[in-house]
Amino acid sequence: MNIGIAGGGLLGRLCAWRLLREGCQVTLFEAGSLTTCPGAARTAAAMISPLSELVDSDRTVYDMGMHSLQLWPQWLAQLQQPVHYYDGGSLVTAHRQDQGLLNQFANTLQHKLGENGYQWLNQAQLQAQEPDLSHFSQALYLPAEAYVDNHALLDQLLADITAMGGTLHEHCAVELLQDNRICSSHGIDTFDHVLDCRGIGAKQALPQLRGVRGEVMWVQTREVQLQRPVRFMHPRYKLYIVPKPDHQFIIGATEIESEDMSAISLRSNLELSSALYAVSPAFAEARITRTDVNLRPALLNNHPQILVQGRCLRANGLYRHGYLLAPMMVEAVLDRLLQRQHSPFMEQLLRTTQPEAVTP
Ligand SMILES: Cc1cc2nc3c(=O)[nH]c(=O)nc-3n(C[C@H](O)[C@H](O)[C@H](O)COP(=O)(O)OP(=O)(O)OC[C@H]3O[C@@H](n4cnc5c(N)ncnc54)[C@H](O)[C@@H]3O)c2cc1C
Repeated sequence: MNIGIAGGGLLGRLCAWRLLREGCQVTLFEAGSLTTCPGAARTAAAMISPLSELVDSDRTVYDMGMHSLQLWPQWLAQLQQPVHYYDGGSLVTAHRQDQGLLNQFANTLQHKLGENGYQWLNQAQLQAQEPDLSHFSQALYLPAEAYVDNHALLDQLLADITAMGGTLHEHCAVELLQDNRICSSHGIDTFDHVLDCRGIGAKQALPQLRGVRGEVMWVQTREVQLQRPVRFMHPRYKLYIVPKPDHQFIIGATEIESEDMSAISLRSNLELSSALYAVSPAFAEARITRTDVNLRPALLNNHPQILVQGRCLRANGLYRHGYLLAPMMVEAVLDRLLQRQHSPFMEQLLRTTQPEAVTP
């Protein structure tokens, strides 16, 4: 089977790689550089956090996320080179005066989950897990959470796709996907099936799609060591800190209903910096190595969707759950293409409309 894929971000790369493994021929079209990847995939902190996300979303996202959490280690083990993946859980903490926020987080989680998906840690237990957070008196430990080194993952997926014979067209914007055709600056190419994985770039084809602006900051310091992602509850800001290679941390993220892609604002920069300093003054001398902005592709209810239009499948709406949900989504895309039945979520994901009329 010969598949054309528009968009070389998270979904596009994962689909290309899995389809090549199934013996398909794959051609990947990316508007930007495949090396630097302009998509949200590279901006993301890449936490795989079904429990934390449940607090602000619904049970469907949690169930889908738990399914992905099982697939990630199996899939990563199939890459030609290892990619750092940490599945030792995450922490949520707050200063003593904001303990109410932490209790509220725990209560919401328990209410939505119907069970305890977390453990309370006292100061000594927290110190044993993360010595640099020992100034906090309490924290919630969420064992079923993970994160992946997404930059290494995107690079390795590209290397594997190349090694497996995938055809790559970068700096090649796709203008239209019509049934089994991809119209791009490369010309008009015809396939057995085409996949639209353009994230927010698919807005013209999916009028309900909206971009949700997210800003992040990268800092580097040897003064703080963390093993696992940490969320910090504060009355004015919500913050997460995710360890990255080379003594770096990604700090995020704002969530603004805007499709503005311009640089991080002064206010967001101040808020992220203040919250980080409030987590630990040991971050004071950290160097800000970069800031980044991107758009999370979201549909009406912030749920993902696979829209089937004839031989064209449009996979989108991963919102802030790209790493949380991508394996589950890709499994469903492959089920549809290869007529298998591995995915338990097909009914929730699939929508069908008439294919776009093919213009001569
Ligand atoms: C600040 C921030 C933090 C995040 N943190 C997390 C997190 O911790 N955990 C998590 O699960 N998710 C997180 N996400 C969400 C995650 O990044 C997205 O859900 C995910 O990247 C969406 O994947 P995608 O493949 O649909 O889109 P993208 O990753 O955006 O990829 C789309 C690709 O299509 C390309 N493209 C666009 N238009 C065209 C065109 N016309 N022709 C060809 N190519 C085109 C783009 O250049 C891009 O490479 C975060 C997002 C942001 C912005």
